[in-house]
Amino acid sequence: MSAETHPELTKNQALVFGSLSGAGGPLTAYAILDQLRDDGFRAPLQVYRALDKLVEYGMVHRLESLNAFVACAHTGCAAHGAAAFAICERCGDVSEFTPEKAIDLLRNWTEQQGFRLSRTTIELRGTCKACVSSN
Ligand SMILES: [Zn+2]
Ligand SMILES: [Zn+2]
Repeated sequence: MSAETHPELTKNQALVFGSLSGAGGPLTAYAILDQLRDDGFRAPLQVYRALDKLVEYGMVHRLESLNAFVACAHTGCAAHGAAAFAICERCGDVSEFTPEKAIDLLRNWTEQQGFRLSRTTIELRGTCKACVSSN
């Protein structure tokens, strides 16, 4: 999904999304703020406001364990509200994938429990293939 297909994005949202999609990996709100100072961003709140909307649109995911944000690698996350990330604790590489079966199981459980699910983010922590084989 690109900013161009979202005509409702404000200038600030488009700038934040551009900075995240150009990063090729997760960024904290403060790192985004640093990148966007020349574009008139002055306060973390400006970045957080834009991020809230981008997360709501499904264009950006929040990684709780890193306290960071990452541009969505797929289209369709907004539709099902679920995404999974494999996070390498050595090199910081983050890969997004969609474990359909696990997501179905979680959805079945929440439906049986009457739990109203708003969003699912699965974070796997470990060591990526490249770092494992460089041992
Ligand atoms: Zn996604
Ligand atoms: Zn790694």
